[in-house]
Amino acid sequence: MNDANPPIELRAHGVTRDIRDLVGIEELEQLVGEAGERSFRAKQLAGWIFARGVESFDAMLDLPKGFREYLKHHFMIGSGATATVARSSDGTRKLLVRLQDSEAIESVIIPSREVEATPDGDQVKQRITLCMSSQAGCAMACEFCATARMGLHRNLSVGEILSQVFLARRELADGEHLTNYVFMGMGEPLANYPRLIAALKIMTAEWGMGISPRRITVSTVGIVPMMERLASEIPVRIAVSLHATNDQLRDRLAPINQRYPLEVLLEACKQLPIKHRERITFEYVMLRGVNDSIDDAKRLVKLLAPLRAKVNLIFFNAFEGSGFATSSRDAVEDFQAILRKGNLTATIRESRGLDIAAACGQLYAEQASASG
Ligand code: SAH
Repeated sequence: MNDANPPIELRAHGVTRDIRDLVGIEELEQLVGEAGERSFRAKQLAGWIFARGVESFDAMLDLPKGFREYLKHHFMIGSGATATVARSSDGTRKLLVRLQDSEAIESVIIPSREVEATPDGDQVKQRITLCMSSQAGCAMACEFCATARMGLHRNLSVGEILSQVFLARRELADGEHLTNYVFMGMGEPLANYPRLIAALKIMTAEWGMGISPRRITVSTVGIVPMMERLASEIPVRIAVSLHATNDQLRDRLAPINQRYPLEVLLEACKQLPIKHRERITFEYVMLRGVNDSIDDAKRLVKLLAPLRAKVNLIFFNAFEGSGFATSSRDAVEDFQAILRKGNLTATIRESRGLDIAAACGQLYAEQASASG
């Protein structure tokens, strides 16, 4: 055991601690040391809690009985989060995840088809994306986003971020597997940086969940210093919610722009250590009469020309009291055509799960407090 480390805190906020909240293999090694076990047990334990995702210490058959009893006494597995599921007619499934303190977040399972080029021609594969939340609510106050209306309730813990994966896996049918993970649910992931990075490390570690970082996308409204830090720490994909081509409009739609205006944001994007042949995705929500003109499209081409960028056009998904309307399909296609003419890759993201309010920007979880 490393004497420099304070002992592992066995309880958090007076409740039994979620073992998935121990933020890395070092902590697990320390725990194992404190329990008087040999250090190789840490990887065994990690395999059970992260890779296999078991929910009971009794299932960890290759651990000594005494150690299992110790673990049972001090920890729980999982954050006590439970999920209620709504199913869309298009296969999308929305999980309303209730956390131990009654806060609620949402995660969305989105099946789609992925075309992969192989030496034998194109192969169509089933892609299943899990859209994950990073915070209960959000403090970023983007004008067109339902989650923003909640304000920030609190950050999610590492265990809570990860619990979304385990809860989602339970909802998959036989033969279905999660293939992609996007932090595009509730919250601003980079505003919960320490927990996000710990969760990403567990997700991508060999001893953890073994997911390729290329299959994980972190979407941000553009918190510049944190973007730079993320890119330097772990090679996940980065998506930036742009939504406007001038500061005046972006200041209003995404107020963080007042702190990191377009020029600063795009310069930072340009400098990100992006792997060869990889590009940054810019999300652009199409708001009728607000940001969807031909001039906007031309300005977007100019802004992104110096970058390795691709653009994802998103139909605005309405919610009550939003005050915005989505652009028509024609307007979105005209916009896309101009981007393509300007040599930008531009795709249109079809709204999924609309009938269960699971589409982008529609996630809004009401808190079930004791008082109702
Ligand atoms: N906070 C992060 C991640 C969450 S949102 C971010 O800003 O990127 C995922 C995407 O959905 C963002 O691009 C967000 O701007 C967009 N979005 C928000 N509200 C929307 C709405 N009502 N319709 C369509 N997209 C929306």
